[in-house]
Amino acid sequence: MKKTLKDVQVANKTVLVRVDFNVPIKDGVITDDNRIKAALPTIKHLVDQGSKVVLFSHLSRIKEEADKAKKSLAPVAKRLEELAGQSIKFVAQTRGAELEDAIKSLKSGEILLFENTRFEDVKDGEVVKYESKNNADLGKYWASLGEVFVNDAFGTAHRAHASNVGIASNIKESCVGFLVQKELEMLAKGVDAPEHPFVAIIGGAKVSDKIGVIDHLLDKADKIIIGGGMAYTFFKAQGHSIGKSLCEEDKLDLAKQYLEKSNGKIVLPIDSANAPEFKDVEPTFSGVDLPDDVMGLDIGPKSIELFKETLKGAKTVAWNGPMGVFEFENFKKGTVAVCEAIANLDGAFTLIGGGDSAAAAIQNGFATKFTHISTGGGASLEYMEGKTLPGVEAIQNA
Ligand code: AMP
Repeated sequence: MKKTLKDVQVANKTVLVRVDFNVPIKDGVITDDNRIKAALPTIKHLVDQGSKVVLFSHLSRIKEEADKAKKSLAPVAKRLEELAGQSIKFVAQTRGAELEDAIKSLKSGEILLFENTRFEDVKDGEVVKYESKNNADLGKYWASLGEVFVNDAFGTAHRAHASNVGIASNIKESCVGFLVQKELEMLAKGVDAPEHPFVAIIGGAKVSDKIGVIDHLLDKADKIIIGGGMAYTFFKAQGHSIGKSLCEEDKLDLAKQYLEKSNGKIVLPIDSANAPEFKDVEPTFSGVDLPDDVMGLDIGPKSIELFKETLKGAKTVAWNGPMGVFEFENFKKGTVAVCEAIANLDGAFTLIGGGDSAAAAIQNGFATKFTHISTGGGASLEYMEGKTLPGVEAIQNA
């Protein structure tokens, strides 16, 4: 168990908080402020406790000097000011005297946000990746600016960067914030210690992206439903014809091995919704042998029924990856039906591991219908693969 905010004394202390303010910004306007809202409970707690709060985050990627103009956190400071209901001191620097003086002059309950941590990835036009490669001096320097470190950025917990691992390794006291704490508790319930029957649903474009998840869950789950583009590689491995559908030839043997190893745990689609090309057109339907001139873009109605049946009685469901090209109106049915089936389960613990399946669930009105929708696509994927998250590992144990 990692230390949480309950385990640390923060009154009157300068508390460094890594948040995830990596929000979409178009023409200087934030188009989705959910990540800022998600950080508020931790920020409010620290303000109420009388901490001097120093916030920092990355925003997108910085690959060249010119990126910096568009990727400043200044608009985030403004929005945070409205959401937190108090003034935010914004420092447009990632190091130096101006930042140090501003931090020193903070009073209890005040909040400071400093500039995009990834500005440290490019210096004087040269790509140095001080932040992204966890430069030792940078982590030490940032750690020297405060007394306690709180990691509340789940979205980057699978990365070892200077702003999470670097600071945590160089400061006397560290803990996870409320958001990371909740993510870890939910993922532990949904992946490590699931109540049975436990059904995992894995979809998305490629087998290669989800090998780790299948591997890790094969022992733990009672059933693994496989849908999405990756299902066609499994069909082909069984000797079916898949037309022009996605297929990873170099994963056919692996797919065969999984099917043999799984002892019937793996549940594949039994029909397919197809199109002549990768286009949002009225689908045609086939069984698992597709005509040569079509590609499979979604599971068909019989698979929807089979998956619903498979989900019946589940006590834990963990889902990662859409059942089809849910971005196309004509090929989102499978994904929406699975959403609905999970949402309607009685008394089950239901988890979506972020990324595209989370986006699909939220877009289609299921945001409140799951026990937990993870906010970190990459981090929750790695958790579902059974990997440890460096950004969490580096935090002190309780
Ligand atoms: P992932 O990021 O691996 O979860 O994959 C999500 C992407 O897979 C989405 O953009 C979907 O449109 C895509 N996808 C799902 N099913 C298919 C399919 N049958 N053919 C092509 N792409 C698909």
